[in-house]
Amino acid sequence: MDLHLIPGADPTDQERAAVDGALGTPATGWEGARRREELEGHVAHGGRESRARRHLLLPALQAVQARVGWISPGALNYVCRRLTVPPADAYGVATFYSMLSVEPRPGTVVHICDDLVCRIAGARELCVEMTRRVGPAGSATKDGAATWMTSPCLGLCERAPAVLFQEAGPEPSDHALAPATAHQVTELMEGRGAAAPPVPARPTAGRLLRRVGRVDPESLDDYRAHGGYAALRRALATGPEGVIREVLDSKLVGRGGAAFPKGRKWDAVAKAAVRPHYVVCNADESEPGTFKDRVLMEEDPFAVVEAMTIAGYATASEQGYIYIRGEYPLATARISGAIAQARARGLLGHGVMGGGFRFDIELRRGAGAYICGEETALFNSIEGYRGEPRNKPPYPVQAGLFGKPTAINNVETLVNVLDILIDGGPAFASTGTAQSTGTKLFCVSGCVERAGVYEVPFGTTLRQLIDLAGGMRGGRPLRAVLLGGAAGSFVTPDQIDTPLTFEGVVAAGATLGSGAVIVFDEGVDLEDIVLRIAAFFRDESCGQCVPCRVGTQRQEELLARLAGGRARGSVKDETALLDEIVQAMRDASICGLGQTAGSAARSAIEKLGLFKGGGPA
Ligand code: SF4
Repeated sequence: MDLHLIPGADPTDQERAAVDGALGTPATGWEGARRREELEGHVAHGGRESRARRHLLLPALQAVQARVGWISPGALNYVCRRLTVPPADAYGVATFYSMLSVEPRPGTVVHICDDLVCRIAGARELCVEMTRRVGPAGSATKDGAATWMTSPCLGLCERAPAVLFQEAGPEPSDHALAPATAHQVTELMEGRGAAAPPVPARPTAGRLLRRVGRVDPESLDDYRAHGGYAALRRALATGPEGVIREVLDSKLVGRGGAAFPKGRKWDAVAKAAVRPHYVVCNADESEPGTFKDRVLMEEDPFAVVEAMTIAGYATASEQGYIYIRGEYPLATARISGAIAQARARGLLGHGVMGGGFRFDIELRRGAGAYICGEETALFNSIEGYRGEPRNKPPYPVQAGLFGKPTAINNVETLVNVLDILIDGGPAFASTGTAQSTGTKLFCVSGCVERAGVYEVPFGTTLRQLIDLAGGMRGGRPLRAVLLGGAAGSFVTPDQIDTPLTFEGVVAAGATLGSGAVIVFDEGVDLEDIVLRIAAFFRDESCGQCVPCRVGTQRQEELLARLAGGRARGSVKDETALLDEIVQAMRDASICGLGQTAGSAARSAIEKLGLFKGGGPA
């Protein structure tokens, strides 16, 4: 392949070392066709072997970003040479992700969440103060070492307002600060003060959460002392078909939003004739207001590894991938440590638990793209392409990662399997309701006394859940709840006794989605919240299909007109136009992002009567 490298752009030693660290040092002078390139100027040729490593493109780009703070043309050339990817193609990947930069920028980038929950916890005031102290978003500190920018939800809603430090260098370090003040942020940006240590989790009630706050998340021995790996032992004794039978009997459905029966998914992959099979854990938890998977990964990481191993056993897969949000540094470190310890102790690799089953897990990090939580976008991201969703069918169980049968589940769904194996599928199905079995993790945040992750049986009401979170903050009246995050819908105080089941919330005109429950009191400017949701979808649309790319833009413009009292024609005309836009996105978008991008706005107008003062009725 002729690569047509960027003329005159060579990597620095640091950049070369970063790429070699991710890809390994070149085996020969021929790898990436360096000799040919030297002979022929900027046209390089590469081989099939290098191209087969295309899936390492994102890790290589991330390594440069982490080492140097941006991806220069020289670094891009070197990555392209090593992997035989045309620079235009790699540039398209590098510019897809918000945590990567192809422009020079300071080594420390501070991402300040100004999304829904942080917004009502003072994020806008924090940004105003940052502007006063440092300059507007994008400004650098006086020494040029750090800059700040606003960010979509960082998944730290229980400690809002949240900030993420992304620090490049020989020992790159990403760390969070939450809750954050402008004083703390600027101190750290100017090199004063140390990064905050991880906030210890408080012990939490529930089955899935029973080890959270009680087990040492960095110790395999402690995990085993708390019952860890009993489920895998049971699975190996039961056999793959027995595992799938238990999961089918449990009636467990996916907890990521789509609510597809998990046992059927595993069964389809296990029976697929095409080989190899893959297991993928979708840990790209990016829905605003959602942080349950982060808590599980940070506080009970071995449970995720054990559950994935069981999934691998049941589906006849030898390789698993965990794709984790780039904004989750602590969860990444803990999962990475858990994989390493499990491998060292014979719980991953050849002969798991001394038997004939072989399975291993590779950790991949996202780089700041909400859409990569969509399963096929996630596959593309792992494979080294832009994280754009694919058309379905074919479904992942037929042609998923690398075009092979793939069982993909999110963290919460997977961890449920441990109890299903221990207690048996029928026992699991006896909790909850007939159609929504088991328990559910809800991320309760916003105007409540104790924001956090709460585990309750399906069928618990919204009122009971808010009470568990300590009730309304300061006893203020409830105005609305956003169920399911930005892709969800608002429910009103008169719907507070809605049972939280898949079927119950649909009857109330909402969805459970990812389990986000954002509570708003009378003091919150809800039109501002809806405008933020519209901006979020405009930013996060991958742009691949017109209804979503244009519709999210038009939706935001229309809502801004209404909020600003500048309706074109009457408010009725504008809301009719919004209905058309939302319907077109729902009917004609490829993936769930476009299909749900208008749900919150539409429900805000219909149920909460927002945006009615935008002009003549
Ligand atoms: Fe991309 Fe939006 Fe189309 Fe999904 S609906 S593929 S996010 S443009």
